Amino acid sequence: MDITGPRGTYDILPDKVGKWHRLERVMRQTAELYGYQEVRTPLFEHTELFARGVGDTTDIVQKEMYTFQDKGGRSLTLRPEGTAPCARAFIQHRVYSQPQPTKWYYIGPMFRYDRPQAGRYRQFHQFGAETFGSRSPAVDAEIITLMVDIVTRLGLRDYEVHLNSVGCGRCRLEYRRKLAEFLQPLQAELCDDCRKRVDINPLRIIDCKERRCQEVLTGLPVLRDYLCAECAGHFAAVRRYLDQYAIAYVLDDRLVRGLDYYTNTAFELHVAGIGAQSAVGGGGRYDGLVAACGGPDVPGIGFAIGMERLLLALEENLVEAVLPEGLEVFVAYTGEECEVVAHQVLRELRQAGIRTDRDYMGRSLKAQMKQADRLQVALVVLIGEEEMKKSFYTLRDMDTKAQYQIEQAMLVTEIKRILGK
Ligand SMILES: [Zn+2]
Ligand SMILES: [Zn+2]
Repeated sequence: MDITGPRGTYDILPDKVGKWHRLERVMRQTAELYGYQEVRTPLFEHTELFARGVGDTTDIVQKEMYTFQDKGGRSLTLRPEGTAPCARAFIQHRVYSQPQPTKWYYIGPMFRYDRPQAGRYRQFHQFGAETFGSRSPAVDAEIITLMVDIVTRLGLRDYEVHLNSVGCGRCRLEYRRKLAEFLQPLQAELCDDCRKRVDINPLRIIDCKERRCQEVLTGLPVLRDYLCAECAGHFAAVRRYLDQYAIAYVLDDRLVRGLDYYTNTAFELHVAGIGAQSAVGGGGRYDGLVAACGGPDVPGIGFAIGMERLLLALEENLVEAVLPEGLEVFVAYTGEECEVVAHQVLRELRQAGIRTDRDYMGRSLKAQMKQADRLQVALVVLIGEEEMKKSFYTLRDMDTKAQYQIEQAMLVTEIKRILGK
């Protein structure tokens, strides 16, 4: 039997879990600061949802999904992203009939059959935020600001916000014609996938990662030049709000989303030094998504951050890692009779909110002290026959190695005083 984990997966062992806790804490706190509330959806959904909600011409749906049949013959898929499940829950629970907007965030594992590389795994984690129900450009600016706030609160200073508008179906119609005209004579130079896209969906060629395609695209007409009056107005307003929030950004012509339900604002967060693909997160407005998933015509906008990518970015930028919160007190004892008392003390300290542990390996007192040292606790409570007889405990300060007797009833108070709790 192969006892290594599957390719593209990894374990987060306890010595690394502290930075995950911090990451998740900052993400939750920041989102809640903006009035977003957490939503938790299942890890798998009907395959159909992603075909509709992510788009059946995308790489995600065509190449990267973990799809399986359950014993009832249903086609199910491990979620490759979080937006379609949010849209599904929004529709299923008729959340659109409540006062809008709906502001949700999610955090958890996603699954994609992708080539593993720096910060990219087959089971990876995303934080995402979605706002349903408002077309206001102020919402676009708010959600971009939330994304920026999260990474700056985590200590990231070197990043770039890329911004674009992909307009609406009406303005894209004209642009698509221009794009196809431009690409027709260059078809032979495109990759296999893109050659098929020229007639079907030329927009998707713009974000093709193949170098040969990127080279073909110099001199390409720019989508922003083809925006209708309404879309141009929306984009100008988003930029005005971002200026008010003092969020710096660069305009990025290549930032397009080739699917029909994406509209107007598109944005990404880039960090240098984390491999060829520098995007840590991104998102955009998707006014057609809820309808595409079978719901009413409700607009929306959202983004997702790849948490492994963000941790990599934080490490590359030397943002200090945080150690997990370790134990504070170790209860050491000798003999069976003392164990009963040790157990009471353990319970009492834990109930008082003090991180405490004891030995479970039948170690000698000396070995227990070594164990306490290894665990880097601040204090050890010693319980031996002498202590039992005279109704006191011995308290040892592991820093100064000083130890003294303390009345049993005073133990919790004394430990709290020392730990500053
Ligand atoms: Zn338009
Ligand atoms: Zn291509």
